[in-house]
Amino acid sequence: MAGQLGGKAVLITGGASGIGKAAAAACAREGARIVIADVSESAGREVVEKLRANGADAHFVHADVTRAADVTALVERTVALLGRLDCAFNNAGIEGAVAPLADYPEDAFARVLEVNVLGVYRCLKAELPVMLRQGGGAIVNTASVAGLIGAAGLSAYIASKHAVLGLTKVAALENARERVRVNAVCPGVIQTPMLDRLEEKASGLVAGVSAVTPMGRVGTPEEVAEAVVWLFSDAASFVTGHALTVDGGYVVP
Ligand code: NAD
Repeated sequence: MAGQLGGKAVLITGGASGIGKAAAAACAREGARIVIADVSESAGREVVEKLRANGADAHFVHADVTRAADVTALVERTVALLGRLDCAFNNAGIEGAVAPLADYPEDAFARVLEVNVLGVYRCLKAELPVMLRQGGGAIVNTASVAGLIGAAGLSAYIASKHAVLGLTKVAALENARERVRVNAVCPGVIQTPMLDRLEEKASGLVAGVSAVTPMGRVGTPEEVAEAVVWLFSDAASFVTGHALTVDGGYVVP
């Protein structure tokens, strides 16, 4: 089948919006068969309808990554629908509150870790055995430039994305010999509904970040999606444990 991901079975969490939605479209364009998972059922079904209208083999599965049973059932359902699991984009995430660390409510902090860190952990735990049985696979976790540097007011988010990079490295090392590659994308500030919410919580964020980004702008979800396609593809066959920034130069050392 044509395309960089021709015939591959791809699972995307957080696929109803933003970066996940753009990744679903880019993977479909490259010939992948797709399951998108999200807590947002109506938006997720809309994404799938659009993919199908463009000729893709696409499915929606409702799954909350904070629930282990949902994640286990999601991976089982993906294999039932697509016959296998070649690629997984563990992308569902939340931004949490914006507040100084000393004022950051503990329940809000825990919630961010629950979705962003334990969510990725649960996905890896369910996906890896399937890929190991199949003899290979490619996983991409959504970290962030927030996994590489700090940012005032975002303690939970920063901690969570540093942890995603840690999980990525361990999973890459543990499974390299078995031909399962595990990488992360580190988007900079990207124009999605999450950014709209952050701009409401911290007015002036987009202008401020654009001003200090070497390319002078925020990114698009489609620009992140292209990096995910490449990491999934056989063109990245010797790439594992990598944190790929897609940030317009924001964290250039
Ligand atoms: P978004 O809010 O547009 O999309 C996130 C999706 O995840 C939503 O559809 C939401 O319903 C889903 N989701 C949230 N909690 C979930 C749960 N418990 N189970 C299943 N699905 C859940 O945001 P986005 O900007 O597209 O973010 C996607 C990922 O990219 C996140 O991990 C985010 O942290 C990361 N990221 C975003 C930016 C940015 O600037 N937008 C930058 C770096 C990293």
